[in-house]
Amino acid sequence: MKVVTSAHELPSGCAFVPTMGALHAGHASLFTIAKKVHTNVVASIFVNPLQFEKQEDLDKYPRTPIEDIDLAANSGVTHLWLPHYSEIYPEGFSTIKAGPIANLYEGKSRPGHFDGVVTVVRRLFDLVKPNFAVFGEKDFQQLILIEEIAQGIEIVRAPIIREADGLAMSSRNVRLTPEGRSTAAVISRALSLAKSESELREMLSSEPQLTLDYADFIDEETFQPAQRDSTSVRAIVAGWINSVRLIDNMRMEARA
Ligand code: AMP
Repeated sequence: MKVVTSAHELPSGCAFVPTMGALHAGHASLFTIAKKVHTNVVASIFVNPLQFEKQEDLDKYPRTPIEDIDLAANSGVTHLWLPHYSEIYPEGFSTIKAGPIANLYEGKSRPGHFDGVVTVVRRLFDLVKPNFAVFGEKDFQQLILIEEIAQGIEIVRAPIIREADGLAMSSRNVRLTPEGRSTAAVISRALSLAKSESELREMLSSEPQLTLDYADFIDEETFQPAQRDSTSVRAIVAGWINSVRLIDNMRMEARA
């Protein structure tokens, strides 16, 4: 694996996996999927200040550069790109706005977040010019908004990788206390068991350590509340445990 700091050192065709580092098995699964569609797998690590609404959250974002290089090298990454801020955001750079779905759910709770996400992803795409880009369903709303700005780059969806107790892997999980960490499994448990939105909310509300932001059944295509005749329904959840924001989602097949 080559570690590079400039996009000029990247190959001309590739499958691309953008990340913010603190890599875990969820990221590794994206690298493995990327390897299946292209021999060149480019991963980037860039903690994008534009998508953090609070300076404190940006400062607290975990950074594990040494371990990241090991994990990437062992998971099929051929080029690990560690760009400098000025390569991504040269003086006078312009931002872009995410589509209307960006005003709902994650975007409602984190104003400006998705504009920051699509701005960095568009910029990364322009520099890397990948054939494919792999994104996790863990950040389902982000995935939908990126599909809208893909402009011919094939977006590959990757399933959510979970811990043994079901908690969706996330770089932020290390900030949970041991007690918070064991409580956090309630989210995926509720997603697996609930047959309706009200059941989902009831299960999540019964956990005092979890401050729920939203728990909704939505139509995957529109991000509007699911209707009786919606063919693809997804339950989406966000909340805080120990002030750490946790998100998760699951496709809802017909449950009786
Ligand atoms: P991040 O480093 O958190 O910005 O995530 C980089 C990519 O990894 C995004 O496409 C995420 O959706 C994806 N990702 C993060 N956690 C997981 C997970 N547990 N399972 C699958 N994909 C994930």
